[in-house]
Amino acid sequence: MNKAFVREPELEGPGYCPRCGTQGTMVSSGPLDTYIRAEFRQKISDSGSYCGYSRCEVAYFDSFDSVIMLSELKGPLYPYDLDVPICACFGLTYDDVEADVQDGEPHRIRALLDRSKSPQARCGTLAADGTCCLREVQRLYMKLRSSG
Ligand SMILES: [Zn+2]
Repeated sequence: MNKAFVREPELEGPGYCPRCGTQGTMVSSGPLDTYIRAEFRQKISDSGSYCGYSRCEVAYFDSFDSVIMLSELKGPLYPYDLDVPICACFGLTYDDVEADVQDGEPHRIRALLDRSKSPQARCGTLAADGTCCLREVQRLYMKLRSSG
């Protein structure tokens, strides 16, 4: 058999959500194991992508277009639910960011920045998208500040 016709599996980049077309964020099994209810965990492979678009019902998907819906997770997630902490490791919330904007000084965010460098920060496993929340926190801070 001519091996030239057997394609090597491609190294996957982040895929696009099969429902909404948003480019996902690649996640390892850590967040998938943390967030997906046990009975649905087998629907998706060992790594996948996080959709993250707040109006899409899909939480995770993989390269075979298997999807995990928000309703198949253990609980609600930010940004789908603004009462859920943005920071899975230390619990910083939307309200905390808003309070920093009102104070005119981001001390809560700065404290988070310090803690994010500590070993207690386990974003790769604890965060829904497997990445540090600070980019989203800073984006939200700028957004709230300019709209306030
Ligand atoms: Zn989506």
